[in-house]
Amino acid sequence: MMADEGRPSAAPILIIGAGPVGLSLGLALARAGLPVELFEADAELNNQIRASTFHPKTLELFQAWGVVEAILAQGHKVDRLQYWEREPRQLVAEFNYAVIASDTPYPFRLQCPQHVATRVLKPALEATATARVHMGHKLLDFTDHGDGVTARFQTADGIVTRAGSYLCGADGSHSTVRKQLGIGFQGKTYADRFLLIGSDLNTGDLLPGAGPVCYVFDPQEWVIILNLPDIVRVVFRMTDDEDQEFALREENLRARIHNFFGETPPYRIKTTQLYRVHQRVADSFRMGRAILLGDAAHNNNPSGGMGMNSGIHDAANLAEKLRRIWQGEADDLLDEYTHERRCYAMESVQLYSDQQYNHMVMATEEARLQRNKTLAETAVNPAQARAYLLRASMLEERI
Ligand SMILES: Cc1cc2nc3c(=O)[nH]c(=O)nc-3n(C[C@H](O)[C@H](O)[C@H](O)COP(=O)(O)OP(=O)(O)OC[C@H]3O[C@@H](n4cnc5c(N)ncnc54)[C@H](O)[C@@H]3O)c2cc1C
Repeated sequence: MMADEGRPSAAPILIIGAGPVGLSLGLALARAGLPVELFEADAELNNQIRASTFHPKTLELFQAWGVVEAILAQGHKVDRLQYWEREPRQLVAEFNYAVIASDTPYPFRLQCPQHVATRVLKPALEATATARVHMGHKLLDFTDHGDGVTARFQTADGIVTRAGSYLCGADGSHSTVRKQLGIGFQGKTYADRFLLIGSDLNTGDLLPGAGPVCYVFDPQEWVIILNLPDIVRVVFRMTDDEDQEFALREENLRARIHNFFGETPPYRIKTTQLYRVHQRVADSFRMGRAILLGDAAHNNNPSGGMGMNSGIHDAANLAEKLRRIWQGEADDLLDEYTHERRCYAMESVQLYSDQQYNHMVMATEEARLQRNKTLAETAVNPAQARAYLLRASMLEERI
């Protein structure tokens, strides 16, 4: 280990991946004055329709990193969460975020596309004094020398090598870093697929009483409605036996919308997305000087909107540990990072998102009635509703 002003190494911390998690880590580190170099394989930030929910805890971190106002300006503040039964169509429970108004400065969830938020995070990172962002740099491999790392990248101009103190893999679910480390990624893939249809429908008119975010239970075809600025995302369950090409034809997308909402005024389909979902957690989040975070470390089904959020929380936890290491503490702190965040992924995010998913598909009449009764009673009891929303907001430590 190189002694340089009490720091483990003068070399920068290398971050792989300019998704929401890598950019968050870069920003947290650079704002603490640590040198950072972030490498992204693609020439531009990802533009895919992916996560859109930012929970209160994440907004608190954005506040600490100086980007909250810019991100709030791009999203839609959602003040209530609704659960519906599809058949017979009825509102089961409504949770109002007002019950957590004294727990957080952001008592709401923000619906804002992930690719819009990353376009706020990247310039904020580039504006710091200690960070550099390299687009078009695909990590090929790296070497851990014990007292530092070197990494090789493919660029348009050939292969380049960079030295660093640590290498942080925020390179998504197919992580090159995780694969090179040979770390297992155990878990399951759901048989169902998620079919997202983005349109300019007014779902409040079509489902009277519907709020901006609704989870609609149904053992055959559950539905999730998410209102974002300028677009509503309606996500349908698509079973394994349905043909993908058939389902994605425009007339069949419209038939699915009609089957759920009934007659609609003319509307425009703006986007579609069909994806599989997984629940997986890496066997370890750290090996030597290489550390995993975000989707590289854990995946979960998106029904509670926790995947991206928990990755951003990994970034905050890791940045704090690296800051302390930079000030001279032993790098055993990284074992605390892996323990804390792996436990959280296993014991909280995976359990909660699986439970949310199971609620949506619950089949027997008895189980459905019990679920509805429990949710309805919880929602009208202020103490229980507060505990419920703190957990849904990933603020369970404040319960
Ligand atoms: C189709 C889809 C839909 C989703 N929908 C939802 C949703 O509705 N709700 C929800 O909560 N979550 C959803 N998710 C999950 C959510 O998008 C992720 O949890 C989130 O993107 C994780 O962020 P990340 O920064 O860890 O990884 P990513 O966003 O995947 O970013 C990883 C980055 O690393 C880069 N990279 C990869 N390999 C290399 C390399 N070798 N060298 C350099 N760079 C590299 C990639 O190009 C990418 O930019 C969805 C995911 C997908 C794929």
